[in-house]
Amino acid sequence: MKNARGSLVRPDPLPASASQPVVTPLSPSVVYASETPDMLDDQYDGRLHGYTYSREGHPNADVVAARMDVLEGAQGGVMTGSGMAAVSAVLMGLLSAGDHVIGGTQLYGRSLRLMNEDLPRLGIATTLADPGDVSAVRAAIRPETRMVLVEVVSNPTLRLADITGLAGLCRERGILLVVDNTFTTPRAFRPFDHGADIVIHSLTKLLAGHSDVMLGYAVARDPELTEKLRVFAVTTGLTPSPFDCWLAERGMLSFELRFDRAQQSAAILADHLATLPGVRRVIYPMRPDHPDHARAAQLLAGQGCNMVSFELTGGRGAANAFTRAADGLSFAPTLGDVGTTLSHPASSSHRSMSAADREANGLSEGFFRVSVGLEDPEQLKAVFTDAVAAAGMVQSDA
Ligand SMILES: *Cc1c(COP(=O)(O)O)cnc(C)c1O
Repeated sequence: MKNARGSLVRPDPLPASASQPVVTPLSPSVVYASETPDMLDDQYDGRLHGYTYSREGHPNADVVAARMDVLEGAQGGVMTGSGMAAVSAVLMGLLSAGDHVIGGTQLYGRSLRLMNEDLPRLGIATTLADPGDVSAVRAAIRPETRMVLVEVVSNPTLRLADITGLAGLCRERGILLVVDNTFTTPRAFRPFDHGADIVIHSLTKLLAGHSDVMLGYAVARDPELTEKLRVFAVTTGLTPSPFDCWLAERGMLSFELRFDRAQQSAAILADHLATLPGVRRVIYPMRPDHPDHARAAQLLAGQGCNMVSFELTGGRGAANAFTRAADGLSFAPTLGDVGTTLSHPASSSHRSMSAADREANGLSEGFFRVSVGLEDPEQLKAVFTDAVAAAGMVQSDA
């Protein structure tokens, strides 16, 4: 296959065009060719900006990172191949054997696993503490504590961390406060404005928003820490593919519209669920009956969240009837998709907990978490009315 220049295998440069594409081109090239060894020196020494090898960086990652930086008020953030890659980069790239880290008791399941299994194996000690209770976190601090990792809104019970209190404590003790902002998103909460030192995201969820890409992001307020994260991510291969970044960028173009719509519908759905006879309780941070309502109002600055949890009065039979009757809603373990998704902690995220412990934590067989999507809220109300009614038909097997 000869091209116009007679080269055997390399493509020609793109045809010249005075006009520019309106969509970011996808750049799948693994390697980038420099002109000379001198030029490569200039690139590696930072005198010239140029890509070399895509594990080390590529245009599609930089385009998404720049968007994330704007949303979080940050600089130079690092893209990773998933949210968990970002969590791993922060924990493993910044901590060393002998260090101690405190994690929130209600962290994302895989983050909990890192805390409970992998970090201790690497000589990093861990303690879990309730992020809503600053005195509990204070009591867990040791001389070698380097980091506190929390999420703002917990999954699936939607409790709020005392970020203001934790930020004060961490500042006073010289400990890094790391906030996984996946649930809240920068639309509702900007951790750096509240004293966080490091922000983590899974873009897989609301930011990319279409359930077709896994991607993560991490950034520190201190550029030296961000650089450490970048080097660790590049060395361990946690960096993302161009196609995933390209898809995520497209999703992010509509993120704010999607978020606003989803959280408005979530508020409507929460209030509607509270009127249905088969629903024992509704958990939504913007409702006055939520235990952390005041903190939610203060931290989320008038924004809400797209997640609603609720409990049906029946047991597993009612739960089965509910998902079967929830026409058009996916029973699928994710959140932040364009469509509403349902998750059932007793059969998924909390299945390894004993039934008694689940009951004690309010996660009965009737407990569902709803990630509200972009459907017409009136249609959503109708579907939930019917599905809750269908669940009520089998209540007796609770
Ligand atoms: C999903 C999620 C993660 C992990 O992200 P992946 O992209 O699935 O690896 C981390 N933290 C929170 C809060 C999440 O919801």
